[in-house]
Amino acid sequence: MSVVRVRELRKSFGALRVLDGVDLDVARGEVVVVMGPSGSGKTTLIRCLNLLEQPESGTVEVCGTRIDCSAVPRRRTVRELRGRTAMVFQQFNLFPHLTALQNVMEGPVSVRRVPREQAARVGRALLERVGLGDKCDCYPAKLSGGQKQRVAIARALAMEPEVILFDEPTSALDPELHAEVLQVMRELAAEGMTMVVVTHETAFAREVADRVVFVDGGRVIEQGPPESFFGAPGHPRVRAFLRVVG
Ligand code: ADP
Repeated sequence: MSVVRVRELRKSFGALRVLDGVDLDVARGEVVVVMGPSGSGKTTLIRCLNLLEQPESGTVEVCGTRIDCSAVPRRRTVRELRGRTAMVFQQFNLFPHLTALQNVMEGPVSVRRVPREQAARVGRALLERVGLGDKCDCYPAKLSGGQKQRVAIARALAMEPEVILFDEPTSALDPELHAEVLQVMRELAAEGMTMVVVTHETAFAREVADRVVFVDGGRVIEQGPPESFFGAPGHPRVRAFLRVVG
């Protein structure tokens, strides 16, 4: 069964057509890595999946909640769709005035009306799970970039999403901090989390992805399991891209 099902997705910014008819299916437990040149629309694509960007046409469906993007979506349907997805951003987007634990608790308490005590208990366990059990009371300013991103992953998990969308989760980090974030993502994948990951981390894609999707010119021009995607790419633009990123 597909967790995510996207059909004919189109999105422009002014005169710039960024997505030009994208189809994408993600199965339960699947890890899909989205690659492509800078500016090809990868971030826009995953932001459209939870309607952080409003597509102009096409359909987005997450676990049976379906949005026809050419009409104004009902607020309840948007809320439902957002409840099934969580996003991990390049720049972490933590609340600076809240501790790590308070950041993780914020969504469950204010959106899902989980009692504070329960949210704190779950939040501590999630911070433990991403290796930050001793940082619950730290403010983001006192954390490294890698630690901040792990808090952001714990915060995403706290919403019990059906799918987590990662938007270049390591690209704002110093190289020596990539590994700790990728390790947490690797563990999530092994536990069966459904994940869509925009990243240039080819080693991660080779090892963890079930499928690599290549976006160029607003369309998916190639996709396949990492062995064939990296081993025998068919499209000349994919071959050119891989020559550069390795
Ligand atoms: P990628 O993630 O592949 O680098 P993006 O989805 O971020 O690409 O951007 C695709 C194109 O859309 C780029 O040309 C970018 O400048 C443009 N773009 C993205 N977001 C906006 C926006 N909010 N307003 C105007 N242009 C945008």
